[in-house]
Amino acid sequence: MVSKITFLGTAGDSLVYSKQIRSSGGFVIKTGGYQFFIDPGPGALNRSSFCNINPRETTAVIVTHSHVNHSSDLNAIVSAMSYNGIDKLGVIIANKSVIEGREGDTPVLSEFHKGCVERVFTMTEGQKIGIENMEIHAIKALHDDPDTIGLKFFTQDFVLGYTSDTAYKKELIEQYKKCDILIMNIVHPSGESSDNNLSSDDAVKILSKTKPQLAIITHFGKGMIKADPILEARRIQKESGVQVIAATDGMVISPNYYSAEMKQRTLNLYPSDEKDEDVEAEHSVEHTGIEAKEAAEDKEENTLDKKEEIEQESKAEEEKEEEEDKDFPAEEESEKELEEKPKEKQKFLLDE
Ligand SMILES: [Zn+2]
Repeated sequence: MVSKITFLGTAGDSLVYSKQIRSSGGFVIKTGGYQFFIDPGPGALNRSSFCNINPRETTAVIVTHSHVNHSSDLNAIVSAMSYNGIDKLGVIIANKSVIEGREGDTPVLSEFHKGCVERVFTMTEGQKIGIENMEIHAIKALHDDPDTIGLKFFTQDFVLGYTSDTAYKKELIEQYKKCDILIMNIVHPSGESSDNNLSSDDAVKILSKTKPQLAIITHFGKGMIKADPILEARRIQKESGVQVIAATDGMVISPNYYSAEMKQRTLNLYPSDEKDEDVEAEHSVEHTGIEAKEAAEDKEENTLDKKEEIEQESKAEEEKEEEEDKDFPAEEESEKELEEKPKEKQKFLLDE
């Protein structure tokens, strides 16, 4: 089964998510038959439906910090994954402030919703948790919620890093080394900076040394939207030597095609590098209906890399054809499956 990462929304600061200039709601990883819901911010439930994600299939919902744009829909997602607690299912993994609150502030996770899942884990810097076939490591972030964590996901096929919200610090380079894909919350464009979040200039510093197969920038602030994330991605790519994509709302990536190990296997199947790139272009990026149209519009407005153009064009065509059919048979099938086969209880392991 090919793994997928779906970006429900790409909004960063309050100016962008409050007006929904870009959608918000976090992202979802599907791998090995399990679903991991990361940072369910405003609209996560709504966007799930739009992006063909069934929250009921969630194995773990993971929240990196208590800021509203990362956590506001946590209770809603927990409710959706457990039929409001009737079928206790899955786990919640979150930083300390989401579960326990912090000075002068209540916890985001309600007592009721704590009881809707099998286990609740509080994760702090340096901890590791094994959930089914996934191992998750927590990484210290530098943010105004002092308990914020970044994440590193180890699967059989790929290693995925997620910076969450953090200011730049040298340690990030060591911590995010050996990722196949690095998702970076880049709130600020080049030339703009803050004490709480990363900028395009910080992305260059990190990527030049960590060298993942692919970096995806997301979580854009107002300045970033103004500067145009696609142009910023191109700049970061040029200066760091790493392939960089600017996430769009609803974008779907197949991480397997960016795994160093998988690339090796593909190279064995297809003797020339050129052929390998063709395979990547065909399969690596998908868009949901509206995003495909947005991507096509973006293409007209901006000068994209040739490769990005091929990816987006071929997917736009496929999605258009799918739009015409419009029955969503796959979703109906998965709903049916859920009713017939009650989900097994999860396996997990906490390494303090
Ligand atoms: Zn934050």
